[in-house]
Parts: sequence; structure tokens; C-alpha cells
Amino acid sequence: MISWDIELVSTGAELLNGRSVNTHARLLGGRMREIGFRLRRETTVGDVEADIAHAVREALARVPIVFVSGGLGPTCDDLTREAVAGLLGRPLRVDETALRRLRERYHRLGRELTESRRRQAMVIEGAAVLPNSAGAAPGQRLETSEGRLLFLLPGPPNEFSAILEEEIIPWLRERFPSVRPPAQRIFQLCGLPESDAVERLADAGFSPEPLELAYCASPGNLEIRLTGGPDDAALVAAKADELRRILNSFIYTEGRDDLAHVVAEAARAARASIAVAESCTGGGIGRRLTAVAGSSEWFRGGVIAYANEVKERLLGAPREVLQREGAVSAAIAETMARGVRERLDATHGLAVTGIAGPGGGTAEKPVGLVFIACADVEGCAVERHRFSGDRETVRLWATQYALNLLRRRLGIEKGNSV
Ligand code: ATP
Ligand code: MG
Repeated sequence: MISWDIELVSTGAELLNGRSVNTHARLLGGRMREIGFRLRRETTVGDVEADIAHAVREALARVPIVFVSGGLGPTCDDLTREAVAGLLGRPLRVDETALRRLRERYHRLGRELTESRRRQAMVIEGAAVLPNSAGAAPGQRLETSEGRLLFLLPGPPNEFSAILEEEIIPWLRERFPSVRPPAQRIFQLCGLPESDAVERLADAGFSPEPLELAYCASPGNLEIRLTGGPDDAALVAAKADELRRILNSFIYTEGRDDLAHVVAEAARAARASIAVAESCTGGGIGRRLTAVAGSSEWFRGGVIAYANEVKERLLGAPREVLQREGAVSAAIAETMARGVRERLDATHGLAVTGIAGPGGGTAEKPVGLVFIACADVEGCAVERHRFSGDRETVRLWATQYALNLLRRRLGIEKGNSV
């Protein structure tokens, strides 16, 4: 039985001294899983030739496919080539095609092909050179005498990703046609805590067996993944139907789309136009919505209303209600939603007011208390929430729940009333 396990050796002092976050493990792990391979382990080493060689040797002893990232550039701390050549006992040679591409590239950029830049055309004897459409240093594919595969890729994330997508994934698919991705369904939910989801599924008698059920919670969001082997597509589909029936009203999409994209689709389908009035989220809702390409078609605009005077003057919140109920109240959330809807001439007005903390909370109105309102032609829905976490977390929860209320009002949630 052949194993489809992969390891990654990331090189670079900046990954160990707090300057950069290693994004390659995540990217490679995700992409490999999608095509049926599995990233088993990731090792990070600094720019030390012996450390790189050691880590690569160990990885090659464990798995049939090893990726090495970083250290292919022109500078003296770029040592991956030398380390791996030494390990394999093979010489480095100049690759003429790579050298030509480098010369052209630097010429185009109006720069000299200096001696140190020429180093990037040095490849290990026997390597297939993988063109880099996003940068200078090419990648390399090697097969060891034991038949193990070794991929050397540059460190900059856009270059790593370009070579992975353009050169390596197509090659792996062709070389290993029997490797197939797992059968999987992914659900995104909002409004249901992880433990409640577990309980609801158990109460309804749902058992994922023999499939794997995994949860991943983040502020205001719950991802549920149902996974089986490559031949379990029918079973996964049947279990997914069951799961969908039980958690239906909380599922906003299947797949990985952001909630803002789902709202955008719903707004387009309903020919709706959206306006937002944000207090404690400070523009976060507007930012999420306008991150969707083409949002000007349905997004009217927004008001970030922190001062009471702004809530009064720009949104029409009555002074006596502000004084009587306070700015963080159901009544003010409603007037903000109605006010922004009317004044920005939108079909839907979405408003948030709350206490993000860390200060400003009272016994009656604690930190994390957030009111969300959505006004449309049928009226205005208002929700009261108590979120936990630090300031940023409360803001994330509020943004997500507000978008979810808007989604439900836009009627995407077929058959479920708000
Ligand atoms: P270059 O030609 O740019 O020197 P290189 O192959 O030598 O390419 P490095 O010098 O190791 O790559 O890294 C270049 C850049 O890529 C650095 O900014 C580094 O922080 C970033 N980088 C390297 N590895 C990773 C990683 N695993 N995750 C995220 N960023 C990374
Ligand atoms: Mg470098």
C-alpha cells in the first residue's frame, strides 16, 4: 500500500524569530488534502545549512513526498540548494533555461544580472526545473535514489503558491491518477454555539458513523465538516441531507463562501439595496459587504454613528429615547435601522449598537451586550445578544450576527421565518 503522506520543511530565520507567520503549512495542507494527499508534519528551521539538511533527511526517511520552502533566493542566507545538494551527494549546475529567464526578467526590470542573482539559476543535478511565473528563483523537482520525491520552492508566498498551482499539482495528478480526494461536505453556520450543535444532532439521533464529523468554531461562525473516503460520496450525500434537515435554519451556506458573499447573492436575487448604521462595529459590516466584488450594485452606504448627536442628526434617533433608553438599547437599534434605511434610500437598513468593552459596561448593560436591528418594507426585526470575549472578538461576533440577520431578512432562508 502506497502512502500519500507529505511533509513540509519550511526554512527561514524570520519564521522562528517572530517576524513572519508560516503560511505555507496552511496553504500546502489545504491544497494537498483537496487532491487526496495528506500533510503529515511540518518542520521549521532557520537559515542554517546543517539544520536544513538534517530536517530534509529526516522527512525523506518518513514520507514519500517532501516539500522544502525558502532559501532559493540570491542572498547569502539562501542555503537550501547547497544543503539539499550536499544531502543527496549531487553537484549543482547552471540551468541555461533558468539563466535565460533570469536575464530576461532582470532586463525587463532594468536591473543587472549580478553574480549573486545568477545563483538562482543553480539547480541540483537531475532536478526538473519548475518555472516561477511570479518571481525569479525557479522551483526544483527531484527524485532520490530511493524513489522519494523532493520539491524545492521559493519562500515568498505568491511564488510558492504559483509554482504549486501551475507546476506541481497538475504533475502530481498525472503521476498519481489513483489518488483521489476525500468525499466531503462543509457547512457554515451562524447563530448556533458548537455545543448546541452537538446536542441537537445527538437529540435527533444523528450519527456520522462511519464518516468523520469535525467542528471548527470562530467568532460568530461554526464550520461543520463531514468527511469520508474517496468512494463514500453517496454516503456523505445521505448524511449531509440528514444533517441539513436537523440544522437547516442555522446553515447559511455549504462550502467555504464568506457570509458577506451569501448576503450579496441574496441582495442581488431580491433586488434589494442595503444601508448600514454601525456603532460598536465601527464600519466592520460595511467593510465585509464592500469586500464583495460588485457591491456597489446593491450596497448604498453607511453611517458610523458613535456620538449620540450623530445618531440624532444623521439617523433621526429621538433625543428623548436616547436619554431614556440609552444609546445601547433595542429602541435605538431600531431607530438607527429605520433611519438609515430611509435616509440612504435603501430597501434594507441594518444597525448595530453595543458595548464592545473593555470599559463602559454596567450591571444592567454589561460589556458584550449588543442590539442588532434590520428594517425593511415589512417592519423591523430587533435582536438582543450577549457576546463574550475581548473588544475585537465582540466586534467580530456582532458583525457576523448582523450579517446573518440581514441574510434571513433577505429571505434566503427558505421556509424559515425570522
Ligand atoms: P527570495 O528570492 O525572495 O530570497 P527565497 O526562496 O530565498 O526567495 P526566503 O528568502 O526564504 O525565500 O523568503 C522570502 C520571503 O518569503 C520572506 O519575506 C519570507 O518571510 C517569506 N516566507 C518564506 N517562507 C515563508 C513561509 N513559510 N510562510 C510565509 N512567508 C514565508
Ligand atoms: Mg531569500
